[in-house]
Amino acid sequence: MTWQWKTIIEPFKIKSVEPLGFTVRDERLKVLEQASYNLFKIPASKVLIDLLTDSGTSAMSAEQWAGIMRGDESYAGARSFFVFEKAVQDVTGYKEVIPTHQGRAAERILFSIVGGKGKCIIANSHFDTTRANAEATGAQALDLPIKEALDFEKPGLFKGDMDVLALERNLKEKGQSVSMVIMTVTNNSLGGQPVSMKNMKEVSNICKKYKIPFFIDAARFAENAYFIKLYEKGFENKTPKEIAKEMFSHADGCLMSAKKDALVNIGGFLAMNNTEWAKRAREIEILGEGFPTYGGLAGRDLEAIAQGLKEVLDEEYLNYRLKSVAYLGEGLRKHGVPIVEPPGGHAVYVNAKKFLPSIPVEKLPAQALACALYLEGGIRASEIGSLMFGKHDEKGKFIPASMELVRLAIPRRVYTQSHIDFVIEVFGEVAKKKDLIQGLRILEAPEYLGHFTAKLAPVS
Ligand SMILES: *Cc1c(COP(=O)(O)O)cnc(C)c1O
Repeated sequence: MTWQWKTIIEPFKIKSVEPLGFTVRDERLKVLEQASYNLFKIPASKVLIDLLTDSGTSAMSAEQWAGIMRGDESYAGARSFFVFEKAVQDVTGYKEVIPTHQGRAAERILFSIVGGKGKCIIANSHFDTTRANAEATGAQALDLPIKEALDFEKPGLFKGDMDVLALERNLKEKGQSVSMVIMTVTNNSLGGQPVSMKNMKEVSNICKKYKIPFFIDAARFAENAYFIKLYEKGFENKTPKEIAKEMFSHADGCLMSAKKDALVNIGGFLAMNNTEWAKRAREIEILGEGFPTYGGLAGRDLEAIAQGLKEVLDEEYLNYRLKSVAYLGEGLRKHGVPIVEPPGGHAVYVNAKKFLPSIPVEKLPAQALACALYLEGGIRASEIGSLMFGKHDEKGKFIPASMELVRLAIPRRVYTQSHIDFVIEVFGEVAKKKDLIQGLRILEAPEYLGHFTAKLAPVS
């Protein structure tokens, strides 16, 4: 069915509700001060609309909750494992299915097999944990996005694509030291932009030519499949499931954080056709995650993932999902808020450097905007800028990040269109008062992943 109406309706009704965290401005100012202007330190009960992440924040369906009750908690060979295994095989087409407690555990296991000193792993863009796990083995993690991906203002359809010329050049130069090529769908690190089937096929062919294994980081595979249906020629009449299957058919395996497109709050997996690798993966799995038929999860979690993988490919759901994110982007544009174009599948990214030109990057404009959003309307977003990626050189001088973005990630099936309208309205207010927004300075921050725990204060 194609939805011809302007109003985006949620393709579900609500059976269970939880209250939002209403606060008043004075209270929010105190909360911000107590949290040292770090939004990770704010109790969720003091947040009205939480757009910090789309990871593990999905609302589960009645069928998923029914699966929770059906979960078989046998230590080995639980019935729920076979339900899960079949669901993953059904979507991906891969034979070997290995559950993990979340995506990064799948990364750690995979890179224990293909990583190591002297190896190189190439991706359209590695997600932070993917990069960290690859580098932790001593391997190099190389990003080869297309150049358009880095031009935030330029619209484009498949800005998640990999630069195939650069890929081939690197494979020629580096030869067999490249141990794996990974395609992240959608490309989370660069705006949640989709990858085209054409690009997937080209990358697959190049990998075959050079005999390099090709994997998919499938966290948002369903959103990617629906972008292909909407915008790539020849896919209009295919179902998202057929498109997803075709995507997976071009690769040798995948890793997935089920906390995204499997519509659950915890879980992940590794899937592949290589039985030799799967055997080694299961040996590593037992050391850190648990027996291979549960992999750090409860039987009930496996049931919820199996059901989520089916529901996420529903066309009404995907249409609503992409439309509601695009709707937020449209609303922000109307208030003159510069966003990364086009809106991604799971989030809208605001270009804070452009929105707050009077705050220099040393004074963290993206974090300042994120704090202003909380103060104005109790909205929590995440900074992707110099607080997250800024570094210090040997002399201790601060080197800011190349981008100052505020990511508004939309949890799946959690907020309604009126919540999104509210977010747009708050942005309108923030835009009016933007000259009053103060920059921030870092009081203290640990060396690694400092954005989670840093303490900050306003500067005038
Ligand atoms: C979230 C994510 C991961 C890591 O998964 P976790 O479940 O958070 O451990 C890996 N890759 C991508 C693209 C992700 O979005």
